Amino acid sequence: MEKTGRIKRLDPIVAQRIAAGEVIERPSSVVRELIDNAVDAGATTITVAIENGGLDLISIMDNGSGIAPDDLPLCCESHATSKVASVDDLYHLSTMGFRGEALYSIAACSRVTIASSWHGQSPWSMTVDNGRKEEPVPGGPSTGTKVDVEGLFKFIPARRNFMKRASAEAASCRAVMVEKSLAFPSIEFRLLVDDSLRVHFPVTNRKERVLDALATDKNLVRSETMELTDHAGRFDLYAVCSTPSTFRSDRSHIKVYVNNRPIEDYALVQAVTYGYGEMLPGGSFPYCYLFISVDPELADFNIHPAKREVKLRNKAEIHHQIVEMVRTQVRRTIPRLRGMMQE
Ligand code: ADP
Ligand code: MG
Repeated sequence: MEKTGRIKRLDPIVAQRIAAGEVIERPSSVVRELIDNAVDAGATTITVAIENGGLDLISIMDNGSGIAPDDLPLCCESHATSKVASVDDLYHLSTMGFRGEALYSIAACSRVTIASSWHGQSPWSMTVDNGRKEEPVPGGPSTGTKVDVEGLFKFIPARRNFMKRASAEAASCRAVMVEKSLAFPSIEFRLLVDDSLRVHFPVTNRKERVLDALATDKNLVRSETMELTDHAGRFDLYAVCSTPSTFRSDRSHIKVYVNNRPIEDYALVQAVTYGYGEMLPGGSFPYCYLFISVDPELADFNIHPAKREVKLRNKAEIHHQIVEMVRTQVRRTIPRLRGMMQE
């Protein structure tokens, strides 16, 4: 049978759901986007609550600057953002968001209620039910913003059927939150799963946040953890990593962040392993949480909807500097480790 025919323009609701599917794959995608928004709003405390793996409810509360009542109907529209106004802004990004697509996409595939107090003024709230906007009404939190996402993918059964067990979806939400929280130790984070508090990270510094996040991983202990730093021209490197006495048989704890975004970049992971070189036994890998801060002009995140990829203009230079930093600074710990072994 012929599968193509005449061209028709898609119904806007269908088009919106297709677009939404690219940004929102599962409950943890919602958690990722809403945490980004809270961070951009300058929140110092963020609470995420999920029910039934996030499929029944994902609720995020922050104490950030809030949304102006007049902006509520706009924030769920496509390409509606307060963060970017010109193409040039894309090259000077200091925010996590910039596409203005997250709330629009979430609102296309769930019932979303956004309740917000703009700089402490009387709160207003608005609901968008699977793409259909309701009128804003008074009421909401006395500071910051609360976003409730109910019944994700309820009307997209094909997508809903792809979801895993609630416990697996909850684990993915937790992983996203922990991953994000490492970049923002000055923000307090909480995660409640079905009303029970599962994660609580108080405000701290980067090293302590990494240790808090890995607290369940008994293989990494404070005394075997070190900080590395390097400043070079247009980028800074900072890493929390293990001394050569601690290692694993996989790369799962080598994580790279660029301008506070976790990214997937094999070459940069490899730079860390090159740096350790023969200080580790063959086939073993360190723990290393590497934070790269680069001039926004040199980084382009506008490649992947989830922003997990970045194009770095000076990547070769950064790669080289990571290898050097790890090699020289980790090596310095070796005499101390030998001393400990002889004691
Ligand atoms: P983006 O983050 O790319 O701008 P979003 O769809 O995630 O796009 O959000 C749209 C707009 O809604 C943001 O630009 C911001 O102005 C506003 N907004 C969303 N969430 C919050 C929040 N938690 N606090 C304050 N403003 C918010
Ligand atoms: Mg956003």
